[in-house]
Amino acid sequence: MAITPAPDEQPFSPDRIVSLISALPKAELHLHLEGTISASTAVDLAARHGITITTEEASQHYAPGNFAQFLEAFKWVTSFLRTPADYALITERMAEQLISQNVVYAEITISVGVMLLRKQDPLANFEAISQAAAKFEPRGLKLRWIFDAVRQFGPIAAAEVVKAATECVSQGVVAFGLGGDELAFPAADFRSVYELAADGGLHRLVHVGEIGDAASVREAVEILGVSRIGHGIGAINDPRVMDFLAERKVTLELCPTSNIRTGALALQLGNPAAKIARHPLPQFLRHGMQVTLSTDDPAMFQTTLVQEYGHAAEMGLNQQEIMHLAEMSFQSSFLPADIKQRLISAMWTLQSSAARK
Ligand SMILES: [Zn+2]
Repeated sequence: MAITPAPDEQPFSPDRIVSLISALPKAELHLHLEGTISASTAVDLAARHGITITTEEASQHYAPGNFAQFLEAFKWVTSFLRTPADYALITERMAEQLISQNVVYAEITISVGVMLLRKQDPLANFEAISQAAAKFEPRGLKLRWIFDAVRQFGPIAAAEVVKAATECVSQGVVAFGLGGDELAFPAADFRSVYELAADGGLHRLVHVGEIGDAASVREAVEILGVSRIGHGIGAINDPRVMDFLAERKVTLELCPTSNIRTGALALQLGNPAAKIARHPLPQFLRHGMQVTLSTDDPAMFQTTLVQEYGHAAEMGLNQQEIMHLAEMSFQSSFLPADIKQRLISAMWTLQSSAARK
């Protein structure tokens, strides 16, 4: 069913939404571990390996203006991740950032494709990540993991990532994903890789329709069997694909600030000056599609999950829609149904007590 705002409901002001959402327990489903490395953490990581850089130098890598620059920045920052201890450090700092925003559940994408390219042992790195994350569970933060392959490295390298993910299912790896340059290799080249992932008990995800077209979004569902799509904003250019996604209940993980900083929104809308208020999130939501709100690479894009909800308010969403959006992040997660329901109930309880104040 399509959701339309009640006539008497005014759009929420970004300030009001930020204070309401800050207080609520939240879920975050599209967050790259490596994209949480702040400029100062990049300096610390470099120092561990005898490389001296200043925060100012590091910051220069954190202002991508297009997609190619973003991929370069990602490559640069991950070049300082060399040992399991480095991964433990960035996991701890990420977890602190999540707790400070009242995020209670997150599915974190780890670029295992990059680890394999650098001849690292992904299982040793993941062991360190998982031990670092366990310390935050008693503080109310539950983390699950998505092992991500790099599309431009091709299907053989991607199958290696699936293999590693399958070996770590019992330690909280819930899904296999594919990121990087979505224009490299057609979806059909990865069909058998995704079948392998399904056989290994993994959910399937992909970054697509970020800079690619609506047809590529549809293909990802039909050929790769994905249940969630990273971005997928290219669907805005074809209402039939929007209908298809709504019918299939495929979730689009939307990351508005990321789409501005990589130039993806400008590209999809054919408007170099496209502002965040023109993001297609409201159209998707009102089309009855499942969408969630995320930060993608918050350190690189200088955003937070709470700020993204503020942007949703700037797009004209009313309170009911904002709350629906927050609930969808729990609904679309890979948590067991009972835990999902408990977290959603906790969110609504807090919302109603905040509303009474
Ligand atoms: Zn992403």
